[in-house]
Amino acid sequence: MLHIGCHLSCSNGYLAMGRQALALGADTFQFFTRNPRGGSVKPFDEADAQALVALMREHGFAPVVAHAPYTLNACAAEESIRDFARRTMREDLERLEHLPGAMLNFHPGSHVKQGAETGVRLIAQLLDEVLTPDVHTPVLLETMAGKGSEVGRSFEELRAIMDTSKCGGRLGVCLDTCHVWDAGYDVVTALDDVLAEFDRVIGLDRLKAIHINDSKNPMGSRKDRHERIGEGTIGLDAFARIVRHPALRGLPFELETPNELEGYAREIALLRTLAEEAGE
Ligand code: FE
Ligand code: FE
Ligand code: ZN
Repeated sequence: MLHIGCHLSCSNGYLAMGRQALALGADTFQFFTRNPRGGSVKPFDEADAQALVALMREHGFAPVVAHAPYTLNACAAEESIRDFARRTMREDLERLEHLPGAMLNFHPGSHVKQGAETGVRLIAQLLDEVLTPDVHTPVLLETMAGKGSEVGRSFEELRAIMDTSKCGGRLGVCLDTCHVWDAGYDVVTALDDVLAEFDRVIGLDRLKAIHINDSKNPMGSRKDRHERIGEGTIGLDAFARIVRHPALRGLPFELETPNELEGYAREIALLRTLAEEAGE
């Protein structure tokens, strides 16, 4: 059974997202922990969070993905920017303790002329500061397209963060199909090889979620422009192989495609059909 959902707006609260997911045919979803541009966040509503947890249990949801704001940069050169990332992640993780069944995904950061090695060190350091023993939420590093000076374009860079952090054993990975393709991993004609490479470098046991997006640009373009499923350079046949792949079975798949809700519902139905055509 394919666990699939999409990115939803959190503006009406947690339970509203769960209901919206059900209406779209989803059994997981993703949401921003706060306004992606601003840092502000509504006061936490414990009853609302508990209502979502109950709905997720009742309907057999796969884990949901809380996405940290894009504006966080855990490896900025300026301490004030790193401090904002640190405080935001701490606050988000505190809230997520009340939402069992959620994972926190974040973009590792951009090293901006400091070099990837320094970037990796700063990210690992910040994770050591926020991943205190009272944090139970799985934290995921997202595979990045490599635009600008993004850290996490290669599986090796993600592995380096895990190896450098004292909490590395607690980290997972969210693989974004658009990002890895834009970063140069051929998920279209060599999916098996890409996943074998992931297993060799990071370990498939660390893979906790998939962002399922087509791409507007060719492999290796390092652009990060998402496209609707089947309308981009990755294409429908490749997505059929992705949703059927045994190594990815059981993971939550989250759509971050340029869509309104009806478009998401159509893509969810389409991908469920493709997954079932595997003959199981
Ligand atoms: Fe992301
Ligand atoms: Fe993504
Ligand atoms: Zn992206």
